[in-house]
Amino acid sequence: MSGYVLEIKNLKKSFDGNGVLDGIDLAMGDGEVVVVVGPSGCGKSTLLRCVNGLETPDSGEILLDGAPISGMDMVQVRRQIGMVFQSYDLFPHMDVLGNLSLGPVKALKRSNDEVKAEAVQALARVGLADKLHALPRQLSGGQKQRVALVRAMLMHPRLLLLDEITAALDPEMVREVLNVVLDLARDGRTMLIVTHEMRFAEAVADRVLFLEGGKVVEEGRPADFFHHPQTPRARAFLDTFEFDTVKKA
Ligand code: ADP
Ligand code: MG
Repeated sequence: MSGYVLEIKNLKKSFDGNGVLDGIDLAMGDGEVVVVVGPSGCGKSTLLRCVNGLETPDSGEILLDGAPISGMDMVQVRRQIGMVFQSYDLFPHMDVLGNLSLGPVKALKRSNDEVKAEAVQALARVGLADKLHALPRQLSGGQKQRVALVRAMLMHPRLLLLDEITAALDPEMVREVLNVVLDLARDGRTMLIVTHEMRFAEAVADRVLFLEGGKVVEEGRPADFFHHPQTPRARAFLDTFEFDTVKKA
């Protein structure tokens, strides 16, 4: 056993002959939070989608706890690797409890009562104790995204992938969602996160990867990356953000 939760080795992926990922390497330890940043279209979502089997790489290897996911059944992979996207895809006709129970009860065969008890606790923790029986349309975007995070956590994933989960939210709702993620990080969850929220990235990350041109152009601790980027391309990228913490450098 490598001791890593996730290992990505020389991962390559192209679409119709256009190279998107051109040899990505990454190894994540248990409890580590890695944030991937980079310009739009650089392949961040493709990277996450390869990790949970939504895309098939052209070459390279992805290992979960030392085992290649290419040799696993995809249902198994997605049980162990949770993913939350920009669009909270809750079932509109089911209340919050129904949405939260579906995976754990159907896929994990856990009892309704046990899952409900865990859901009640988890909702309270993200400030949604009173929303157990609300329908998705009765929730704000920020509330729906918090439910989506709870839903992913109730599957007890080994690894959580978050792809720009606040990108579609009004600014006042971004913080309430990111606070939940900060809380998960403090709990020791292993997470691979794509975000454009640079202050959040600095706060949550153990390590930052800057992706451009299909490659990891720069990689480092957040304090180094955000305040003392080493490459001109990372500096140019960070200059497009207005945040004080970045400008202070
Ligand atoms: P990012 O998330 O960094 O904005 P993506 O991973 O979504 O970037 O996309 C990287 C590149 O791959 C883009 O040029 C995009 O148009 C292309 N791409 C992504 N998915 C597909 C697909 N299913 N078919 C064809 N091209 C795709
Ligand atoms: Mg994307």
